[in-house]
Amino acid sequence: MHSCYNQGKGTRWDVAPVTRAHHIRWREPADSDQKEKHFVSDTSTTPHIAPSPAATPEGWSRADLHIHTNLGDGTAGPRRVVEEAARRGLRVIAVTDHDHLDGAKRVADILAAEQLPIDLIMGSEVTTRSGHFIGLFLEKRIKAGKSVEYAIDAIKEQGGLCIAPHPLGWLVPSLSRRKIEDLLNRGFAIDGIELYNPSPANASERTKVAALNQQWGFAAVGSSDAHFWQHIGAGYTLFPGSTAADLRRAIEERQTRQGGQEAKPTPLPIPAYVAQCAWSWFVDPPRRTLRAWRDPV
Ligand SMILES: [Zn+2]
Ligand SMILES: [Zn+2]
Repeated sequence: MHSCYNQGKGTRWDVAPVTRAHHIRWREPADSDQKEKHFVSDTSTTPHIAPSPAATPEGWSRADLHIHTNLGDGTAGPRRVVEEAARRGLRVIAVTDHDHLDGAKRVADILAAEQLPIDLIMGSEVTTRSGHFIGLFLEKRIKAGKSVEYAIDAIKEQGGLCIAPHPLGWLVPSLSRRKIEDLLNRGFAIDGIELYNPSPANASERTKVAALNQQWGFAAVGSSDAHFWQHIGAGYTLFPGSTAADLRRAIEERQTRQGGQEAKPTPLPIPAYVAQCAWSWFVDPPRRTLRAWRDPV
């Protein structure tokens, strides 16, 4: 399935202090206005995202558990993903390209070499017949095009966690309410659900999904589903602790909280979305087919 995103419509983000590593080149301007100017000029046209520290309770950290790279249908290279995650103070990130782990592996290599205070979770957004479905803490890719039940079993077999991305979303293939409740009734374990995903297709369902999750009882997850580096951290998951192991425990114990943008969005330039759509439709699918052929599951 193709994913063509105009998520977030380029939200105007609050600018806040950032976590930095010495080897990431970043000059901090004197005040927040200048800071925003710097961000915009740095990226030619794009707004910037930064976490609001007030939203993170003491002893808690921020994770973005749904990020795409340009090894998948995203536009950000692995190094850019790492730089942005560091700049936005994310302590845990999950790279979740569609149906493979190549982008996640590249990010893992960069993080290992740079020794940044960021934990990576290897993940994948699996294309199932019922919609997209995310596996976290994976070691190998999950076969695409099968049932969501197959994906859940395959993720669990690897000791992974199951997350329902953009539930009830209508822009990209997503699990329906009926499907989620059917899985629950049949004892299929979903661990977390994206209560926050910036896609406008998902935003309209946000309140409804949050209300339904009062009964479903999945861990609350917020994620950016970023296909552009400018959107990394646009949605986030708050959790007690700071490591991937802490995050895993928090999901299992249902202690996480979702969060994301609140301000009115400003659009990214249209050509950026057109380019990502072209990438998603024409470049990524043949690569995925080639990967599946080279690396059968
Ligand atoms: Zn998706
Ligand atoms: Zn996605």
